[in-house]
Amino acid sequence: MIRALLFDLDDTLLDHTGAARDAVDQWCRELGLPEGQHARFAAIERKWFQAYERGEVSHHGQRAARCREFLGRNMSDAEALTAYDGYLSAYREQWRAFADALPTLTWALESGFQVGVLTNGEREMQQAKLEATGLALADVHLIPTVDLGCPKPQREAYLAACRQLEVDPANTLMVGDSLANDVQGACKAGLRALHLDRAGEGDLRSLSALREVLPQRAS
Ligand SMILES: [Mg+2]
Repeated sequence: MIRALLFDLDDTLLDHTGAARDAVDQWCRELGLPEGQHARFAAIERKWFQAYERGEVSHHGQRAARCREFLGRNMSDAEALTAYDGYLSAYREQWRAFADALPTLTWALESGFQVGVLTNGEREMQQAKLEATGLALADVHLIPTVDLGCPKPQREAYLAACRQLEVDPANTLMVGDSLANDVQGACKAGLRALHLDRAGEGDLRSLSALREVLPQRAS
């Protein structure tokens, strides 16, 4: 029986891709660079974030590396992080939850599930995202893997999240947009998992569909 739901944050509860696309355009305008570079930005972001997830660079290190590569400039980490603040402030202005996020979290809590948000982003930014988008509900536990020292898809990330929620992995369902981080990694750690694919072919097309998958109350 499922007693706990763990949600990914970016591109699951919050429209990270849409926010990043608009933020990159705004940042480029401020820097006098051409707009429309989001695909290149996203490829660089993915490359360095995956290096972080493999333990090859620190969380701040991947930010600095992304900024250096995107701007094509030789900069110290401190200079790159300062420049990257331009992107981050534009990104913050664009944060928006998906329309089904708040109703789903509310339904999950009212149905008696333990609810957590398991994210590879750092606490300060992810907490600010939840607050800015109205998703910072009192009983929703934010579990940033940066605090745990082991990002998804490392097994310990899911097990530590289950310990924080005081539930067994077998009674926990992870939901997210990343097959590797939210589905395959979770299943290897003994959790159940569903792939959210808003465009098409995953287990769920929307978070609202969870109500049909989990008709029973948790308690
Ligand atoms: Mg995600």
